[in-house]
Amino acid sequence: MLGMVFWEGHVVNSSEEQADGTLLLSLSEDPSHRPRCGRCGSDCVLVHERRRRRVRDRDWFDRRVWLDVPIRRLDCYQCGARAAERLSWLDAGERITHRLRAWVEALVQILPIAHVAELTGLHWHTIKRIDHRRLQTQYGAFEARGVRRLVMDEFALHKGHRYATVIMDAQCMRVLWVGEGNSREAIRPFFELLGKEGCQHIEAVAMDMNTAFDLEVRAHCPNAEVVLICFTSSRALVGKSSTGCGSIRPTPCAASRPNGR
Ligand SMILES: [Zn+2]
Repeated sequence: MLGMVFWEGHVVNSSEEQADGTLLLSLSEDPSHRPRCGRCGSDCVLVHERRRRRVRDRDWFDRRVWLDVPIRRLDCYQCGARAAERLSWLDAGERITHRLRAWVEALVQILPIAHVAELTGLHWHTIKRIDHRRLQTQYGAFEARGVRRLVMDEFALHKGHRYATVIMDAQCMRVLWVGEGNSREAIRPFFELLGKEGCQHIEAVAMDMNTAFDLEVRAHCPNAEVVLICFTSSRALVGKSSTGCGSIRPTPCAASRPNGR
């Protein structure tokens, strides 16, 4: 019953408390469930070999939970592949279940990575990798349709030895792009992503005094006006922008330079 609910295709064979207090659940294959090819997902009955793997699952109450899982390697009639079976709750080659990954993804949005590591017992790098994948999935796609006014600013990385640049939609203060460096070349990928048509639609770009940004904007956005602004703090700008639209009102400086004049 537990297998049907938590580990589709497997049933719990035994449970054993380990010396360190963790719970080890030994799973076996559910004979009523056909394995699926890891490449094409077709039902597959020809088993080449079986291997057992230890994976972590989400904690039960105060207990860490480890699973000892048999993984079949299948010969698929449909696609001809020899591949590990596809499981709905565990990715190929992974050492943690989808359930534990989802728990970590929820925690990293409210706690520092070090705290999540302490709470879950997972390595810092494992949590960082999970969070990176979450961010890539949620925000990895570049979306700048309809953008007409930009704000760009640089901020220091690692106590000022290196810099990065953030570019935002000035109308709703949504972060569009962040790149390492503060040179013309550093921000060029943004305009390449925006495309020629997107660049044509840019009407104004606000920035601190930075000749490199100024020149690059002029090179890509023929209709844009460059507006020089005094940001009180680029750190505050990035931090506040994530809380919602319209939370920042940069103060324009005296200078405002129309493009090409
Ligand atoms: Zn297949």
